[in-house]
Amino acid sequence: MTAEPGDQLLRAAICHTPRNPFEHDPALECFADGGLLIRDGRVADCGDYADVRGRHPRAVVRDLRGGFLLPGFIDTHVHFPQIHALGALGRQLLDWLEFVALPEEARMEDMAYACDTARRFVRALAANGTTTALVFGSHFRSATGALFRAAERIGLRVVSGLVISDRRLRPELHRTPAEAYRDSVQLIREYHGRGRTRYAVTPRFALSTSEGMLDVCQTLMHEYPDIGLQTHINENALEVRQVRAMFPWAQDYLAVYEKFGLAGRRCVMAHNVHATDSELERMAASGVAVAHCPWSNAVLGSGLFPLRKHLLAGVRVALGTDVGAGTGFGMPKEALEAYAMQRVAPEGMLLSPAHLLYLATRAGAEALNLESETGDFAPGKSADFVYLRAPEGSPLEGVLRQADGMERSLAALFTLAGPESVVETAIGGEPVRDASGA
Ligand SMILES: [Zn+2]
Repeated sequence: MTAEPGDQLLRAAICHTPRNPFEHDPALECFADGGLLIRDGRVADCGDYADVRGRHPRAVVRDLRGGFLLPGFIDTHVHFPQIHALGALGRQLLDWLEFVALPEEARMEDMAYACDTARRFVRALAANGTTTALVFGSHFRSATGALFRAAERIGLRVVSGLVISDRRLRPELHRTPAEAYRDSVQLIREYHGRGRTRYAVTPRFALSTSEGMLDVCQTLMHEYPDIGLQTHINENALEVRQVRAMFPWAQDYLAVYEKFGLAGRRCVMAHNVHATDSELERMAASGVAVAHCPWSNAVLGSGLFPLRKHLLAGVRVALGTDVGAGTGFGMPKEALEAYAMQRVAPEGMLLSPAHLLYLATRAGAEALNLESETGDFAPGKSADFVYLRAPEGSPLEGVLRQADGMERSLAALFTLAGPESVVETAIGGEPVRDASGA
């Protein structure tokens, strides 16, 4: 192979999951002394350093030994207006929404506050090594635009949309279906496909959307065949009962979305803690992906996520931090919580480091139908990575020094690596600008 001017060869320990470890063994690829060759912002080669170096002798080497290169993390469920709702403990979903989350959502009407929150939000993602996120925008069109612009400014790959609701929240958050349609179209035209930003239709959840509003969602999905959809489903037992009462014609929660054509491969639904067997079967058949948010489920007392049932049914599962009901932006911490919850769940699974890495990276890309663009280091993909290095003198540094293999090191990273271990977050081979300060 020839080397071209501008080729950059990163030398570090490297791990990625180019395959799904729930279906393939082995799925994890690790190189203790690895090389990642980047050309024009894309992965051109990945393997043992000596091999990659041999194939590209003229590439400029960046020596990052002592740290780990992982694919950039992918957060498939996170709310931008809810940063300041983080850390409100002691409530269940519907109370938490009313008294903690929705007052913050209402503050997004103030553009200065919304812009400041958007900047903080995208920095926090990048500071934690997240390169791609599916984000609940705001109920306000201008605040949602502020999020798209903040993401664009620092180069983050963001899929987001105007949150739409017309009942049961707070009057200032309600829009008529006609207004929701008009504002959504305006945002789609302005931001979908602009740089790395993409649009997802975002009905908050069935309880806050009338059939007229769900009809608008269906129209938007029909008119714009390459946008996505995100919403919530089966999060809390009381919520599920209320949905049954509000949509008596629906056999279950999923049936509400199905009736309006909102359950398919373009759709990511958060939580699904209380899914029925029939819902899981139908989700697998239609290709709906589920964003599993273990911290949020634990903190709100929503329940234990039936991961094994999802996988047995063939439902696609990825991870989300669900800020602000979750506990922060760190995807390693989220994956660790998934591990912990599965340890105590009655029908839980023992997750390996490969599973955690997959859930935090490639699974998210698959859920967003972006797996040909990001999620692992297969040649041709965008060079989206996080460079982790344990702070000097930290427990993590000591554990890594003694680790007897890459899987052991990876487990230690998922257990101990917080934002203080994130040295660089890069998208398309370029460091995310202005990632500090959060
Ligand atoms: Zn949520």
